[in-house]
Order: sequence, then structure tokens, then C-alpha cells
Amino acid sequence: MSGSMRLSQRVNQIKESATLAVTARAAEMRKSGIDVLGFGAGEPDFDTPAHIIAACKQALDAGHTRYAKPTHGIPEARAAVCEKLRRDNGLNYKPDQVIITVGAKEALFLAFAALIDPGDEVILPAPYWVSFPEQVSFCGGRVVTILGDEAGGLRISPRQLADAITTRTRVVLFNSPSNPGGFAYSPEETRALAAVLSGKDLIVFSDEMYDCLRFGDRREHLSFAAISDEWYAKTITFNAASKSHAMTGWRVGYAAGPQEIINAMARIQSHTTSGTATFIHHALVEALVGDQSHVETMRQEFERRGRRMYERLCAMQGVTCVRPDGAFYCFPNVSGAFARLGVTNSGEFCKKVLEQAHVALVPGDAFGMDTHVRLSFATDPKTIEEGLDRLEKLLGRR
Ligand code: PLP
Repeated sequence: MSGSMRLSQRVNQIKESATLAVTARAAEMRKSGIDVLGFGAGEPDFDTPAHIIAACKQALDAGHTRYAKPTHGIPEARAAVCEKLRRDNGLNYKPDQVIITVGAKEALFLAFAALIDPGDEVILPAPYWVSFPEQVSFCGGRVVTILGDEAGGLRISPRQLADAITTRTRVVLFNSPSNPGGFAYSPEETRALAAVLSGKDLIVFSDEMYDCLRFGDRREHLSFAAISDEWYAKTITFNAASKSHAMTGWRVGYAAGPQEIINAMARIQSHTTSGTATFIHHALVEALVGDQSHVETMRQEFERRGRRMYERLCAMQGVTCVRPDGAFYCFPNVSGAFARLGVTNSGEFCKKVLEQAHVALVPGDAFGMDTHVRLSFATDPKTIEEGLDRLEKLLGRR
């Protein structure tokens, strides 16, 4: 297609996903015979547990191949989400307050589309997941970024949050544990942030994709909606089976919150995707209410790998890193190594590392921090060791 095709202004604002771009470049190099080690993946390297696959096959054999009824979630799937949120998060939702979506990504998009008018402000703590600002812009919203403080473990403070609020603030985004930061807020820190938002006419989007993957002294997860009745009434909780149950390719997520908002999201969904495949709704039931032991197995493994990656990164010259509290990412500041590699930003840094060490990292500028890079430890320990050996050889040891 030539570059002269007129596309909408809306789409021209959207950047290609940086995480996918690095994965694609690494794949190209691999295809040409270069042994590239990838730290780009934002998905577990584990297989989907067999009992979930069996539930999906059973649903297919039973003929669950027509439109889901209703499209925003068969009753069993919405009931399973209610059970998960009750069991793990202490949240009591009715099935009418739940929507099943094409991954959490669709749920977030539907919620922005349902709530944002042009010029409305969305407060977004950085580092942030790549799709947040793009979805906000696409819906005509204005992104107001708060830069996480490195001394505070990349978390934002209540003071910073209070300073970012204006009369146009419509949504505050909260993502703990964080992609890409790997940090998580403690229950006390979560309550302190909620306190400065109290009484304001806004909605909190709480992205809890990694709630089951928390480590060490930050194991305890407090859902934003569980803080108080006020926050139950003003929070949408987003989650999915993608990361916790190794189901990224199944494309199934969900949101729970005030019924009026969920209904609006369902209305948009009914005219766009019509939701995820019907047999996947059945698989979601098994994922959320069936055997959960694999979640803990993965969590323990990610914690081991995360500790190891963190220690090794801290030993490299020009690198500082916040210890991961959850998810499966390290997000080191590598700006101290820029001069050594003759680069000035995270994109150039990753390009150099890919070309010279054959290691694929994700540049931090896509996450709102151009001094950082993201490494996923959702990859096997051997690749982690070898990839970090290569990086250390390039950057040097402290
Ligand atoms: N939110 C966060 C913080 C994520 O890291 C991701 C995936 O990378 C998503 C949402 C989207 O998840 P899904 O694959 O279920 O659409």
C-alpha cells in the first residue's frame, strides 16, 4: 500500500506496539540464522494447563460453537468471574456487573470508549503499559502522566497524584503489580492513594492482570474496589486469564464494576467484536473455578527467576534496578550505560544490544521512561542466564 492513502486522524495518532516491534525484529534476525535471545515476551512460557484445554475441547464437542448468549458472557462464565473475585479479592459482584471480553485489552478499550469524551483527562502513572495512552488518545481523551519516582521503587506518591487532579479528570489508572515496572503497591500504599481521590467525581480503572503473581513481602494484594464502599462504587476491576493461567492466545478477559458502565461496555461490544468465542467462555469457567495449583507453581518459578535477574542486572555497569514485586518484568534504568554504548535513548540502546549482543529488550520510551528498558523473565532459566551473560559482557561488571 502506498503512503498516500488517507487514514483517519484518530488512527494516525496510534503508534505500533513497541513490544511487538522488537519481537518482530528479533524474529527477522532469527530467520536469517542469528541466535537471538529474547526478553521481549509479555506472556508466560508455560503451557495452558491441560484441564483448561480439556474443558475447551469438551465445549466444542458439546456444540458450543454459536454466538455466546448473551455475547458479553454466558451466565456460567460471569458467575465464575464473581467467584474468582470473591475468593481472591474479597469483592462481591453480581453477574450483571461482569463482562467477558476479548482479553483484558478489549475490556479496557470498551471502558474508555464508554466513559471518555474529547478533552477528558486520564491520569496515567508512568511507567505504564503501552496500550493505555494509545487507547485513551483513540477515544479523544488527554493523557496526564505522573512519573514514578525511582527512589520510591517507581511508585507514585499520594502528593503527586493529588497534584495531577483537575476538574477535567475523568479516569485514574492504577496497575498493580505493574507491567512494565514489576513493582506492586502494598495495601497501605493503595489506601493512601485512594484517600487523595476520595470525594472526587472520577472513576478508577484498576488493572489487576498480575494480582496472583506477587512476590516476597509484597504478596498481599488489595483490590482498589475492596478499599471501601466508595471505591466499590467508583472502580472498574480488569483482569484476564491471560497471564495467571498462561492463556494469552485464548483472548479472554473480563471486567467488573458499576452495572451502568458494564451495560454501556456491553452495548459497544455488541456492535464491534461480539465478544470472545463461545467455547472459550466455557474454558474460562474451568480456568477460574477449577484447580488453581498451577497458578502458584508459576508464581514461585517467576519469583525465583525475577530475583536472579534482578541480582544480575544490579551487578552490571551503568545499570540500576528496582526489585520486582510481581508480574514477570525487570525494568532497569540503563541510562548510566548510554555513553559507553554511544547512544542517547532507550530505543538506540535496545538496537545496539540487539545488533551487538543478540539480545532482544524492549525500549522504555514506549512505557513513558526513555532511560529504562524492559526485560521479561517469562522465559526459561537457561535463556535468562545466557542472555544476561551476553548483556554483562557488553556493559561490563561493576
Ligand atoms: N493490562 C496489562 C497491565 C497487561 O500487561 C496486558 C498484557 O500485556 C493487558 C492489560 C492485556 O491483556 P490481554 O492479553 O488479556 O488482553
